[in-house]
Amino acid sequence: MGGDSVRGGISEGPVTAGKVLVCSRCFHRWVARKSDGPPKNCPKCRSTVWMKDYHVCRCYRCNHEWGTTNSEPKRCPKCHSVKWAVPVRNSDAAPRSRFAPRNPMDPEKVEDVLRRYADGESCTTIAISTGMSFSDVYDIVRSNVSDGRIMV
Ligand SMILES: [Zn+2]
Ligand SMILES: [Zn+2]
Repeated sequence: MGGDSVRGGISEGPVTAGKVLVCSRCFHRWVARKSDGPPKNCPKCRSTVWMKDYHVCRCYRCNHEWGTTNSEPKRCPKCHSVKWAVPVRNSDAAPRSRFAPRNPMDPEKVEDVLRRYADGESCTTIAISTGMSFSDVYDIVRSNVSDGRIMV
């Protein structure tokens, strides 16, 4: 057994005859004919970097896209930002207010509820006749009636 060792000085990777090679640039596939190392150029696009990890980078700053074989480009070639790979925090997007009212109440409804309550209707009656939920009516009455005695 054995004796199947690859001859020749392969320094750039295990390329043997019959191996399918793929160009990372144009995705051309071809079969290696020789076993003396990878070809210099992609037979289709003639790229000399076909076997390198060619990938597309996008700059977060200026949205420029460029292809490179550099795994970690230092700068965006367009805007020269070194933070091209760092997502930009959108400072314009104001955080949602944590103090926003849970159910913003229609002032007309509030007025209606208070008028009905002043006319002697109970919270239950008001809720039924206005179609509002009892808790909404109760909240309005409670926050507007000062003597603390609420007709439920
Ligand atoms: Zn190619
Ligand atoms: Zn850029």
